[in-house]
Amino acid sequence: MGYDELANKIAYLSKPDQQLVRHAFLFAQKCHEGQVRNTGEPYVQHAIAAAGTIADLHLDAKTVAAALLHDTCEDTDLTLNDLRKEFGREIANLVDGVTKLSKIRITTKWLFVKEKEQLAEYDRQIETLRKMFVAMSSDIRVVILKLADRLHNMQTLDGVPKEKRYRIAKETLAIYAPLAYRLGMGEVKGKLEDLAFPYVYPEEYAALKKKAAGRLVEKERYILQFKKKILAKLYKDGIKGQIHGRTKHMYSLWRKLQRYDNDLSHIYDLVALRIIVNSVEECYKALGIIHNNWKPLVGRIKDYIAMPKPNGYRSIHTTVFGPGGEIVEIQIRSKEMHEQAEFGIAAHWHYSEKKGGIDYLLRKVSRAPKKELVWVNELAKWQKAVGDNKEMESDLGMDFFSDRIFVYTPTGDVKDLPIGATPIDFAYAVHTDLGNHVGGAKVNGKMVDLAHELKRGDIVDIIKKKNASPKRDWLEFAKTSLARGKIKSQIKGK
Ligand code: MN
Repeated sequence: MGYDELANKIAYLSKPDQQLVRHAFLFAQKCHEGQVRNTGEPYVQHAIAAAGTIADLHLDAKTVAAALLHDTCEDTDLTLNDLRKEFGREIANLVDGVTKLSKIRITTKWLFVKEKEQLAEYDRQIETLRKMFVAMSSDIRVVILKLADRLHNMQTLDGVPKEKRYRIAKETLAIYAPLAYRLGMGEVKGKLEDLAFPYVYPEEYAALKKKAAGRLVEKERYILQFKKKILAKLYKDGIKGQIHGRTKHMYSLWRKLQRYDNDLSHIYDLVALRIIVNSVEECYKALGIIHNNWKPLVGRIKDYIAMPKPNGYRSIHTTVFGPGGEIVEIQIRSKEMHEQAEFGIAAHWHYSEKKGGIDYLLRKVSRAPKKELVWVNELAKWQKAVGDNKEMESDLGMDFFSDRIFVYTPTGDVKDLPIGATPIDFAYAVHTDLGNHVGGAKVNGKMVDLAHELKRGDIVDIIKKKNASPKRDWLEFAKTSLARGKIKSQIKGK
């Protein structure tokens, strides 16, 4: 993709905003001059692709500009200060945020976990990484930028050295796609998963492709015929809708098959029909028309308009016996719902206003119609979960993350602790037994006092001593309720 294509995509922006994007492009082009990606294309192509995704989501000009500039500080001599001077604080902060997020990685230790006992701990690690991802993004646009960046990296993953591909694809499946889902960005989520699938599960992917190929062709042909029949019926009743045949994403098909005994004939939405109409009223009217003509399957009607999914997804789903008795899933939604389902958070939020901060979004929730912003509520809940509710008072207006720090074990695992936490809190967060036998602690390689206050990003190494045990004075500096509870029960036991 060249700049011309991006220029077309940003037609929704004002003239001065388009100029800002062009300025950012020229600047990025100069910064990356002579740099080539592993794929052999000029580096700036990557920046343009990321910016294209942001423009597709119709985000504000500053976010598009930040996408163009997102790697300028990382891979060149340019500093954040230079960027601030040229483009102002807001854009520089977005770029800085994206750079920081690059540090969130699955450590090698967890990449190939298979044993059951370890999987529970793996899940906890991954969930912490996801939370950290959002916690480190003071501005929600940073998360979206990082998703756009990852999307293009996945599209060009073949250019990356082979040994790196697995980790990148695995992170995409474990962290990035679920984030996109939680932000309601269905389209990005589906793309990320399908791009990662062949790298993480190559054999399963090949087998599924072979298995589904014939059935897919058959079904697509059938759907095309059915679509014409439905269109005619809708038209007769005055509904001018659009109908798309929608092939299920491979990765979500694979996941679904595992729940259905691997039996393809039980998957009714292999190719689904999606009807897009103009209003909520027409959605229900269309549903009536469909059921009137083709018998619905019992128990398969889901009204996500009356009851949206937690991430804000709205549509009506039904499954009917189509012509010839073939079972077909049909999704009905309005144009607005469709945009929201594809673009999620971005569709809700066009950032016409200056601030994009999470706390700003959250404040907005209290004033917005509830059903339209379910996702924000969900995001708020999720972010609240980062903080320990027992330990801190939180309300929607505050920044939940200013009270948390993330520190590392010597093997790179992440622990999420409140500000002011000490090596004692850390030890109990790792394991009760470790907490009960703290003999000493090293932070970033240096011995420290047990009352030492941990800082964001510290690497903490607890020295375990068999005969050590909790002391009463630990209660004077242990911060978490977990550690305090364990210490008290140990002291009592003596
Ligand atoms: Mn990048």
